[in-house]
Amino acid sequence: MDKSGFLEKVREGAELIKMHIELGHTIRIISHRDADGITAGAILAKAIAREGGNFHLSIVKQLSEDLITELANEKQKIYVFSDLGSGSIKLIEKHLSDASVVIADHHPPEDGEIKNDNHILVNPTQFGADSVRDLSGSGVAYFVAREINEKNRDLSYLALVGAVGDMQEIDGQFHGMNLDIIEDAKELDLIEIRKEIRLYGRETRKLYQMLAYATNPEIPEITGDERKAIEFLRAKGFDPDMYYWQLREEEKKRFNDLIVIHLIKHGAGKEVIDRIIGDVVLIKVYKEGDPRHEAREFATLLNATGRLNAGTLGVAICLGDDDAFKAALKLVDEYKKEQIEARKYLIQNWNSSVIEKENVYVFYAGKNIKDTLVGIAANIAISSRLASPEKPVIILADSEEDESLVKGSARTTERALAKGYHLGEALRKVAEIIGGEGGGHAIAAGIRFPKDKLEEFAELINKALEEQTNGN
Ligand code: C5P
Ligand code: C5P
Ligand code: C5P
Ligand code: C5P
Ligand code: ZN
Repeated sequence: MDKSGFLEKVREGAELIKMHIELGHTIRIISHRDADGITAGAILAKAIAREGGNFHLSIVKQLSEDLITELANEKQKIYVFSDLGSGSIKLIEKHLSDASVVIADHHPPEDGEIKNDNHILVNPTQFGADSVRDLSGSGVAYFVAREINEKNRDLSYLALVGAVGDMQEIDGQFHGMNLDIIEDAKELDLIEIRKEIRLYGRETRKLYQMLAYATNPEIPEITGDERKAIEFLRAKGFDPDMYYWQLREEEKKRFNDLIVIHLIKHGAGKEVIDRIIGDVVLIKVYKEGDPRHEAREFATLLNATGRLNAGTLGVAICLGDDDAFKAALKLVDEYKKEQIEARKYLIQNWNSSVIEKENVYVFYAGKNIKDTLVGIAANIAISSRLASPEKPVIILADSEEDESLVKGSARTTERALAKGYHLGEALRKVAEIIGGEGGGHAIAAGIRFPKDKLEEFAELINKALEEQTNGN
């Protein structure tokens, strides 16, 4: 990627923000509601506060025309969108033409020119970056913050929490400009990157829970069965009640090998084996056993706050607020339980409910899966082998906000992308036809549309995906 071109844009964005701070204007920040967006918002907020500026931050589920109109009515001098905005350039241009705007985002932008001189798009995909590997929204925010003031290098670890929340290291290692952030964080001795087992729960799950609840990947014959997990661990000489972080170095190694061998024995694919041991980010700011010590657990904590519309609680956690942290701990358990329930529902109902087309699986869950969990559910459908990894999966559920709408998440794998699919573009196109909003990355995208278009949807999305493969 053209790093210096990107950093030049970063500079423009940072300058514009600094100018408004100097003028005493409130910096209006709007960020996305997941771990990536929450850390991005926290990074920007902290950077602005450090300069003596005022900010007003909102964490939102998505940008709609209604929301942009409301923002316009606030008549702020400057709006900063982070981890979102690239899919709404036309609307931003239309409603915020009188204000300064910085869009600090990593989603592939919609086709729409920024014509306003006071509007700046800071987006690494315009410089050749891969939106799901090379930099997250929090990473973009970090570079802007670093440009505002070198001091903000100490926020680098938060950018990595966001990157992990977005699964930028899904293949087991970091890429692109994420590596520059890692370098900054290491220089300040804020993090350590270790090659460890990449199962959820390093800090807060007992070993048997880590195995029994593992879904990414699933552990054959163990996932879903606590008793088996306990037997398995005892037979191999491990105390099932210990935590991974408590193991001695050689025990960690033996544990890692055990899992790899188990996966190989049960015929797991090469990709699964390759990524099960890989980069794990440990945050030295926190102690072992604290969920904030490991980036995935930290990210999950933030996702849990976002899902309950308590995203600003997540921001407070990022800024070091211990009361916010304690309040959020309860939410994670609930969040993880819901994921397990969603997995059960999928497995029990997949065969009877899935619509399988040439290029896509479409599964409508009604109210049985929360609309905030359909993305995770789509990944579960793939990792539990309900769906072939060659074909995109879309899980839909009734919208929690609006009875007349459904929310869908599309997920797929690198292997499927090789056929030419771009889920974000396909969903954006279909949304335009059926009167909804859709978009996102090639490998992960979302959509919202009127429930009465459900039947048409499967056919239309299949066709849109089909057309993408013909391009190849
Ligand atoms: O896919 P999405 O970013 O919505 O996932 C949010 C959270 O769900 C992640 O932070 C991660 O903890 C969890 N997740 C996962 N494995 C997947 C999908 C989601 O661990 N395949
Ligand atoms: O909105 P945003 O960019 O923050 O979210 C990216 C989404 O893509 C996350 O839900 C993440 O879990 C998902 N993802 C995925 N598979 C990948 C990379 C990202 O499902 N290989
Ligand atoms: O984030 P990770 O997948 O490592 O988290 C594992 C836990 O998160 C599982 O126990 C489950 O509750 C939920 N989850 C899941 N399937 C996924 C992602 C998350 O069940 N693909
Ligand atoms: O909503 P979901 O988690 O499925 O979104 C997957 C990815 O697509 C996220 O990066 C999200 O920000 C993006 N997205 C988008 N435009 C939409 C819906 C989702 O850019 N209308
Ligand atoms: Zn993101």
